[in-house]
Amino acid sequence: MAKTVRCPTCGAPVPWTPTARYRPFCSERCRLLDLGDWFDEQHRISTPSTPEPWLDTPDSAAADADDLTANGHGRPH
Ligand SMILES: [Zn+2]
Repeated sequence: MAKTVRCPTCGAPVPWTPTARYRPFCSERCRLLDLGDWFDEQHRISTPSTPEPWLDTPDSAAADADDLTANGHGRPH
C-alpha cells in the first residue's frame, strides 16, 4: 500500500515511492514552479528601494556650491 502526499504546488496526490523522483511534487513542472516562487520572493526582498530623486535636486546642489564659494570655507571637512 503506497503512501501518498500532496503536491505543494498544485495539491495533486503524489505516490510516495522510490520511483516518484519529483516528490513531494507531482512533476518536474510543479517542482520548478515552486522553486521559481521561492526565488521571486528572495528577489523582491533583496531589491533596494527606489531612489528618491526629489531629495537631491539640481537647485539645492547649486545653492550649496554658491554658499561654499561666497563664504570662503569650501574646504572639505
Ligand atoms: Zn503538482
